[in-house]
Amino acid sequence: EAKRQGKGRYETFHPELAELARERLDLENDLRNALAQQELFLLYQPIYDISGAHNTGFEALMRWRHPVRGIVSPLEFIPIAENSGLILEIGAWALVEACREASHWPDDQRISVNLSPAQFGRQALVEDVANALAVTGIHPSRLDLEITESILLDASQHNIDILHQLKALGVRIVLDDFGTGYSSLHYLRSFPFDRIKIDQSFIREMCDSREALAIVRAVTGMGKSLEIEVTAEGVERPEQMALLQQEGCSHLQGFLLGRPGLATDILSQTADALEFRSPHAAS
Ligand code: C2E
Ligand code: MG
Ligand code: MG
Ligand code: MG
Repeated sequence: EAKRQGKGRYETFHPELAELARERLDLENDLRNALAQQELFLLYQPIYDISGAHNTGFEALMRWRHPVRGIVSPLEFIPIAENSGLILEIGAWALVEACREASHWPDDQRISVNLSPAQFGRQALVEDVANALAVTGIHPSRLDLEITESILLDASQHNIDILHQLKALGVRIVLDDFGTGYSSLHYLRSFPFDRIKIDQSFIREMCDSREALAIVRAVTGMGKSLEIEVTAEGVERPEQMALLQQEGCSHLQGFLLGRPGLATDILSQTADALEFRSPHAAS
């Protein structure tokens, strides 16, 4: 009787939890095959210099074309990949795929790849990055690796060692979503970052909120004195861009300047804008 009641209670009060768990498990199973089925792909969002006139590179942003659900956001499937350990394989794939794509671009175009904290668990990350550079032949200085503060939060000495090993390969290390984590400023002393990206929540509010503007101002000022490049993320409106130019940010990224796009579109755009001829084009 008690058992039946218990089961009944579960189904009465939390059916939506059971449904969520089932859905997540389904997605995890599907994700196992996604790489082999070539359902994962990367979009590329342009990053501009502060004038907004020069495209300096692109950030690779992952998408999953699910056979039934359609396009799934990384906000949904990256956590599943992290919890299931699939992120190691998927992350290694993204590094090669992004560098391979960048190998078709002009040499002054950088490529930025997001790393998950879960990829820092093993030494394999350094080998994965070295391998991506070797098989695609792009110069290490063209590759930016984006990490978030959470990498520095746990097992920090191990992770800082790995960051130093990555940096020794000649790539640049970027601190993403700056300002959202716990005690952000502290982390700037623990590792010599090459660039920080101010989180889009501050950019969104900087025209209306004195507090958000004050933070943007403090970060750009700090970037200048520490000689760290500062990219503003999520720039959507001309007023924001004008204000960021006034504050002395170094780079801009956001829908105002360009949305994430397909690799094929990027190739034709860079070809037009920079009169770049791909190695495959007839001369
Ligand atoms: P992120 O690295 O901070 O990437 C920036 C996100 O902001 C992207 O969302 C981008 O599409 C979005 N964004 C760019 N400009 C604007 C704008 O002007 N307005 C608004 N509203 N949004 C803008 P996306 O592509 O959905 O990616 C979300 C997050 O998923 C990323 O945040 C990153 O943390 C993670 N992610 C994406 N691709 C990968 C990947 O290959 N590996 C790992 N580990 N994480 C990834
Ligand atoms: Mg990023
Ligand atoms: Mg970000
Ligand atoms: Mg983010």
